[in-house]
Amino acid sequence: MAFFQEPPRLGNQFDDDPLLPSWIDRCLGPAAPEIAGELRALGDLAVECYAKQLADMPNEPELVQWDAWGQRVDRIEVSPLWREAQVLAARHGMVAAGYEPRLGAHARTHQFAIVHVLGPSLDVYSCPLAMTDGAARTLLASGDAALIDRYVPLLTTRDPARMWTSGQWMTERTGGSDVSQSETVARRDGDTWRLYGTKWFTSATTSQMALTLARPEGNSEGSRGLALFLVELRDERGRLRNISVNRLKDKLGTRKVPTAELTLDGAPATLIGAPGDGVRAITPMLSVTRTWNAVSAVSGMRRALALARDYARRRRAFGALLVEKPLHADTLAGLEAEYAGAFCLAFRSAELIGALERGAAEGREVDERLSRTLIPLAKLTTGKQAVAVASEAIEACGGAGYVEDTGLPRLLADAQVLPIWEGTTNVLSLDTLRALGKGGAIEALGAELERAVGGVRDASLARPVEAARGALRRAAAWFAEALPQPDRLEAGARRFALTLGRSLELALLAGHAQWCVDQGRADAPWMTAAARRLALEGVDRIGDASLEDTRRLA
Ligand SMILES: Cc1cc2nc3c(=O)[nH]c(=O)nc-3n(C[C@H](O)[C@H](O)[C@H](O)COP(=O)(O)OP(=O)(O)OC[C@H]3O[C@@H](n4cnc5c(N)ncnc54)[C@H](O)[C@@H]3O)c2cc1C
Repeated sequence: MAFFQEPPRLGNQFDDDPLLPSWIDRCLGPAAPEIAGELRALGDLAVECYAKQLADMPNEPELVQWDAWGQRVDRIEVSPLWREAQVLAARHGMVAAGYEPRLGAHARTHQFAIVHVLGPSLDVYSCPLAMTDGAARTLLASGDAALIDRYVPLLTTRDPARMWTSGQWMTERTGGSDVSQSETVARRDGDTWRLYGTKWFTSATTSQMALTLARPEGNSEGSRGLALFLVELRDERGRLRNISVNRLKDKLGTRKVPTAELTLDGAPATLIGAPGDGVRAITPMLSVTRTWNAVSAVSGMRRALALARDYARRRRAFGALLVEKPLHADTLAGLEAEYAGAFCLAFRSAELIGALERGAAEGREVDERLSRTLIPLAKLTTGKQAVAVASEAIEACGGAGYVEDTGLPRLLADAQVLPIWEGTTNVLSLDTLRALGKGGAIEALGAELERAVGGVRDASLARPVEAARGALRRAAAWFAEALPQPDRLEAGARRFALTLGRSLELALLAGHAQWCVDQGRADAPWMTAAARRLALEGVDRIGDASLEDTRRLA
């Protein structure tokens, strides 16, 4: 009989995750068994949705600009799985769980665990959800009671019929990283404002609302002259309010996400906060969306590895299953270690957001020095890892990994956006320098690393702990030395930031492995092996390239 290769399959996406069950046990204490049960059910749902995702592959969003009678309608039709994702996301609390009081400071861990398990099966529906979550957080931080009462319940409900999503429109043709040249103008119109301009990347154009930046007439040039506005996209009859959709972007990946170019021609808008300082007002959005980015990076890695692992148990070459080949097993092991480190850093970001929010809700003074540095580091480090892991995972499936209708190439194409949006690797590396320049932040990172490894006693974890400590020490020394040399500091910023991110990953992983050992858990040997392997993969990227060489090469 002719040979046909069996495709890779997914098992329960909670039980098969080597990290999530122990992380939930460790963080959620007495609530862990109940939450694990919920996540296990979602782990089955993720498998069901994965099958739908494969079947739904040919469907992509469509822009319908005109109706049959010649009226401009600019309606975006999304894919069937995206319509279902809207309902599932609300029902399973992919945003709401982060705002529910019952788990206190652990609400964010709960929420992001849901996102981690279900997200990879929902065709990047995580994109509008991240911005929705960020918008809710930004409105809460604005302190504007009228806006909070009207919009936050809609953004954070579990009722699919009531739930709103929100976009975030920052990027214009002039730039996304550097918004200082933004051309959108805000004009007063009685009690309200009207916006005029072009938004170049808007990923949630099917949303009911968006937060956006615009320059009130008469304000100064540069980013300080920008203000933050809330736009309700449609009127009661569902028609766009002085907004036209010029076209949808034809993108490498995230193809189910309808990313549009918009013209605002007098779109009514509500000012949030003061009519300047909009960049500062939108900052709460960024720590939330960057944490979503980091969690989406690790959940994308998990999905890629789940498929590559399974494939290695089904595919034979040179007389044995791939998993029995020492080099293939070694390749997969290195990827698992990257995943394990990335997981710990992303979920530590989630914990930090939860703790900050809890502190603010209780009116306590909260030290934000750690989260201000750790969250961008998590975003930039995991974004790069996600691309590298997805690339290796599709190679691990051989030629099939490159063939579109296996669904495998999407893993790489979708991962590639993670280092770009919400701040590119370089832009976040420079942000890290700025945050560390403010003082106290490098000490906060050092304290975080020591907190993570403080209790590590297992002899097999001594080298990972030393590798993490050593890398952070060298990074801090390099920073102090390079500080008076701006060109050297900027040129080395990415190596510096990745060293900080990777050494934190290793420290958090070693600390978690020790906890698993202490609990006598069956997964402890996996965890200690992952820490040892991540140390072997290397966490220290510090080094100076000659500036002259760089000039020659670039
Ligand atoms: C699929 C997709 C969806 C998107 N959706 C949205 C959305 O919904 N809303 C929204 O507002 N935006 C959205 N964006 C836009 C995205 O956020 C921006 O493209 C991103 O922030 C980068 O900005 P840019 O395109 O201006 O790149 P640039 O800033 O021009 O960057 C180009 C390169 O230069 C590097 N660079 C820039 N400045 C420096 C520096 N000072 N030093 C060293 N290197 C530097 C960058 O790292 C990058 O490698 C989306 C983008 C994509 C791809």
